[in-house]
Amino acid sequence: MPRPSASSLLPALPVAGARVAGPRSLLAELAGLVVPVACGGCGLPDVPWCAGCAALLTVRPWRCEERAARLDRLDGRPLPVWTLAEGVGAARQAVVAWKDRGRVDLTPRFAAALRDAGRTVALAAPAVPASAALRVVGAPSSPAARRRRGGNLVDALARGVAAGLTAGGVAAVPSDALRRRPGADQVGLGARGRARNLAGRVRVRGGGELEVRGRAVVLVDDVLTTGATLAASRAALESAGAVVVGAFTLASTPPPGVAPPSHEVPSARPPG
Ligand SMILES: [Zn+2]
Repeated sequence: MPRPSASSLLPALPVAGARVAGPRSLLAELAGLVVPVACGGCGLPDVPWCAGCAALLTVRPWRCEERAARLDRLDGRPLPVWTLAEGVGAARQAVVAWKDRGRVDLTPRFAAALRDAGRTVALAAPAVPASAALRVVGAPSSPAARRRRGGNLVDALARGVAAGLTAGGVAAVPSDALRRRPGADQVGLGARGRARNLAGRVRVRGGGELEVRGRAVVLVDDVLTTGATLAASRAALESAGAVVVGAFTLASTPPPGVAPPSHEVPSARPPG
């Protein structure tokens, strides 16, 4: 498996080992792109994605919706959410590296893992006629994040899930029907803060209604944390006439008190 070289990622910058003068934040940002290749999850040198981290995602998908039950039961129906990894340690690091540290070389690995997950789930489900193909919709990132990352990275995961479902006999096509209006970042907010922050900001884009109206939809996101993103996405799709039947994520953050990642600890106690 060829690994991406520093030059293919960022041809104009100095090669590995070179000292770069500049602000600390710039250095930190460049470090993820210019230094020799290391595993995007555990940091093992000289391999972009090690066997140990790959193994975290090559498991039978498991259900995690009970971790976000309060937000997933907007209308009393729990939304099945299949996931692959606990969102801690190397799995969490890998998602952060992918989304915020330029490790887009991980995209095909994550998409492949979710393709396998989609196939496994589909093989256990009744077949769907091609005319009734499911729509597989990625949870939308903010406009700022889209610009920073060159698009909605989660859309690639949605394509993986769609391919897997289809391979397993459940016809599915990806759709980028959702958009998010500008607003504050979700990082650092608790469950209620996240839900409030997102309320009304996730919408079906122009033309997207035609893609989802009357369709069964499967949502895809990178990590299930509080469920706020999936709940807002589900609400927007259902107002457009879709029926959201399930969701897939790469990872699921354990509930607070089990192993809370430091960035998920709310900065203030939510009211009530
Ligand atoms: Zn690793």
